[in-house]
Amino acid sequence: MRTPSGDLVAALDIGGTKIAGALVDSGGALLRTARRKTPAEGDAAAVMGAVSAVLDDLAGAPEWPGVRAVGIGSAGPVDASRGTVSPVNIPAWRGFPLADEVRRPAGGRPVVLVGDGVAMTAAEHWRGAARGRDNALCMVVSTGVGGGLVLGGRLHAGPTGNAGHIGHVSVDLDGDPCPCGGRGCVERIASGPNIARRALASGWRPGPDGDTTAAAVAASARAGDPLALASFDRAARALAAGIAATAALVEIQVAVVGGGVAGAGEVLFAPLRQRLREYAALSFTADVEVVPAVLGGDAGLVGAAAAAAERVGVWGGV
Ligand SMILES: [Zn+2]
Repeated sequence: MRTPSGDLVAALDIGGTKIAGALVDSGGALLRTARRKTPAEGDAAAVMGAVSAVLDDLAGAPEWPGVRAVGIGSAGPVDASRGTVSPVNIPAWRGFPLADEVRRPAGGRPVVLVGDGVAMTAAEHWRGAARGRDNALCMVVSTGVGGGLVLGGRLHAGPTGNAGHIGHVSVDLDGDPCPCGGRGCVERIASGPNIARRALASGWRPGPDGDTTAAAVAASARAGDPLALASFDRAARALAAGIAATAALVEIQVAVVGGGVAGAGEVLFAPLRQRLREYAALSFTADVEVVPAVLGGDAGLVGAAAAAAERVGVWGGV
């Protein structure tokens, strides 16, 4: 059965602040969207209620009969092999069987679950900055640092859907303990809160508005403040070391960097490109490009759809 608009994939993007959904067509357009606030402090059923409400909105659309699969990108950790999620920012969900819970309202359609970093990667590979690249690392640098891999032209999600989690690669052997249980992780140095924390610890002070976020540090860096510049340079070094390690392991051609911290623009990208030359020195790593992500806020939905389409074979795979 085909609708006039062709086969569709329903996508869900599950995060700690919002649960978004969309019907996505074969060109990556969002035909219908729905959204609920995540009741992050509610119990497991309350959070699932918000997911169901989003699905109900989508199922009420006239295009719903054309949906061939449901793709879910969720804040992690996820276990795609079991279909479970344990998002750090949704305490009521620990080992929550999200794929099973979605299967019923999905009317028996195939349900594909991936982590949000893998979803963003699928989106950038399909429609964004990694398009046409067979080997890529995509990363989200925001309140945390996540990522995913494209290898040999295909999304490489790994057995549990977490492959490419660059944020928890250690780049500082004697570095600070990380909430993940490791030490000296990329995220512990390069995430927005850690950029801001380090700037403040070094003596940087906010302007009259009192804003102490990484965006405020970025504004100071843009104005030439040496302490703000130093904090971004440290983040750039951590990201560069993680990208270089990835390039040495699996030969990526491009590293795509998105998320709120990437919004700092050249304040981040200029030192990142410079530092990458220091860490990626081998002949087969030296040409790795670093580019900004292009899909922004819709990447989670577009990517969840792309991951499901690739797995299930909708649109002949993407
Ligand atoms: Zn860590």
